[in-house]
Amino acid sequence: MRQILVAGNWKLNGSRKDIVGLIGRILAGAGDTGDTRIAVCPPFVYIPLVSELLSGSKIAYGSQDVSDQESGAFTGEVSGPMLTDFGCSYAIVGHSERRALYAEDDAFTARKFAAARRAGLTPILCVGESLEERDAGITEDVVARQLDAVIDLEGIAALGDAVIAYEPVWAIGTGKTASPQQAQDVHAFIRGKLAGLDKGVADKVQILYGGSVKGSNAAELFAMQDIDGGLIGGASLQADDFLAICRA
Ligand code: PEP
Repeated sequence: MRQILVAGNWKLNGSRKDIVGLIGRILAGAGDTGDTRIAVCPPFVYIPLVSELLSGSKIAYGSQDVSDQESGAFTGEVSGPMLTDFGCSYAIVGHSERRALYAEDDAFTARKFAAARRAGLTPILCVGESLEERDAGITEDVVARQLDAVIDLEGIAALGDAVIAYEPVWAIGTGKTASPQQAQDVHAFIRGKLAGLDKGVADKVQILYGGSVKGSNAAELFAMQDIDGGLIGGASLQADDFLAICRA
């Protein structure tokens, strides 16, 4: 039985004051979220603050990105070892905003995935198709290509202790959620593809859904057989919404 994970991706949002308030409200309301594992991914600069605020709680935290490099002349980068130094458990890699806005391709994403693992972080590997790709009927090809880049570099076993987030690009921040069946179909495809290479990895890997998840639609998404929780953007900035998703 795979554990449910709900991870909040705060993106480029928040201030010291907002974060103190948000974490305070999440901690106050997280008592009835059962076995769900909860994580938040703040902007890099707020990771030490979040680490302090979450100290002693069961809520995990991670980064929204990670460098493919460990150290050296790479201005502006933040490495995996720096993140583990501050207690991060997770690193999101290959978010569609990184892919689309910062031209991060499959191979680069795979190197970031590898760097996260080398540092002892659990990568949350984002995959997903654009609306044009869905309309062209190539959703599975796109997702397979994104997964293959990681499998080719790191091997299938590397996915066994990672998290995959299926995030259709057309559903991110748009208010348009994939239907539970649309999401389940892609999750089942992902698990089936991995099972073709290693059944143990396929059974173990957590596959999250991301794309306009809210308190009102989380339960039906998370009830699907191959959906093991969610990667939450907008709704993770409001404690009540985020907690409603965690309870779902
Ligand atoms: C995301 O950015 O990973 C995401 C799923 O965003 P939203 O929940 O706002 O669609």
